[in-house]
Amino acid sequence: MQIRENISLKPYNAFGIDVIAKSFASFHSVEELKEILDFSSLFQNAQLVLGGGSNILFTKNFDGLVLKNEIKGIEVVAEDEEHVYIKGGAGENWHEFVLYCIDHNYSGVENLSLIPGNVGASPMQNIGAYGVEIKDVFHQLEAFHILDKELKTFNLNECEFGYRESVFKRKYRNQFVIVSVTYKLHKKPVFNTSYGAIQQELEKMGIEELTINAISQAVINIRSSKLPDWKEIGNAGSFFKNPRIQQHEFHELKRIYPGIVGFPVGEEHTKLAAGWLIEQCGWKGYRKGDAGCFSKQALVLVNYGNAKGEEIFDLSEAIIHSVKNRFGIKLEREVNIA
Ligand SMILES: Cc1cc2nc3c(=O)[nH]c(=O)nc-3n(C[C@H](O)[C@H](O)[C@H](O)COP(=O)(O)OP(=O)(O)OC[C@H]3O[C@@H](n4cnc5c(N)ncnc54)[C@H](O)[C@@H]3O)c2cc1C
Repeated sequence: MQIRENISLKPYNAFGIDVIAKSFASFHSVEELKEILDFSSLFQNAQLVLGGGSNILFTKNFDGLVLKNEIKGIEVVAEDEEHVYIKGGAGENWHEFVLYCIDHNYSGVENLSLIPGNVGASPMQNIGAYGVEIKDVFHQLEAFHILDKELKTFNLNECEFGYRESVFKRKYRNQFVIVSVTYKLHKKPVFNTSYGAIQQELEKMGIEELTINAISQAVINIRSSKLPDWKEIGNAGSFFKNPRIQQHEFHELKRIYPGIVGFPVGEEHTKLAAGWLIEQCGWKGYRKGDAGCFSKQALVLVNYGNAKGEEIFDLSEAIIHSVKNRFGIKLEREVNIA
């Protein structure tokens, strides 16, 4: 166990924001986590669990203990005729976990290829892309309660997954450390190519026989062409959620703005493309200092080098205000603010 003092978090967050953590410790097992918490509880009052740092915006120094999750390991814990139950340590890199599943021909997570971050954070906001969310493949997770110092198992219902939401993002925020996640994957591939862009990319790739590997590669190609590589330009992917509104509100907006982009959600709601709303307000490609709105996708806020977290946050405030003024819609941040 090693607790270091006054550590820059710049290498630990995809936005590349340079803030200082008062204390910083990595843990590789539940025992080590317990040991750190026992020791640090004597003098620390705030903890922050960090995975890959790809969904967090630091706006100030962190006056507490950052716990960097490094619990590794991937194992099949059960199987039946159709499914395999595969458990990943929370500190495993998500994309590497996806590649492991593809290599073993376990299907279900290929549409989620190339999402940055770690296994442990995948249930935090119910990560999703190209027609699949974690809740579709989730079996259970184990989480360590920071105060009670006990492990608890959460099943699908107990996680209360929603669109980029779970109990861990709201109700139990900062109370639990997720230490492992078990997914239920298909042994015989079940393909999900419902997303138009995947179909088009597969055609472009000249794929004749569909495989999970081909879907993964299609997703990688699409993502690489649209999103900035966070290792080159700091970002946390979509900064805002796509707002959900009532169908009748959508029809009213469509009457005024015929080009508005929305996708039906069930019978009564429509999910609006937040990127379109932001673009219409003139933010796409905007830059002030090193804080900006990405030129290829307005939903992504970026740090071109030395932006401060507050500058990115202020930009997000300005965007929220202008979208509200123009369309009457309040955008919500997807990224965690610390
Ligand atoms: C270029 C880019 C593209 C992206 N595309 C997508 C996308 O398509 N879909 C999508 O859903 N997301 C996307 N994201 C967001 C991000 O990749 C995911 O949210 C990812 O799951 C974050 O993982 P992380 O390990 O980096 O989490 P972190 O950023 O380290 O943490 C995120 C939050 O979870 C908490 N946390 C992390 N690990 C644990 C744990 N083990 N226990 C308890 N709390 C924990 C942290 O305290 C923090 O509040 C993208 C990000 C980038 C940079």
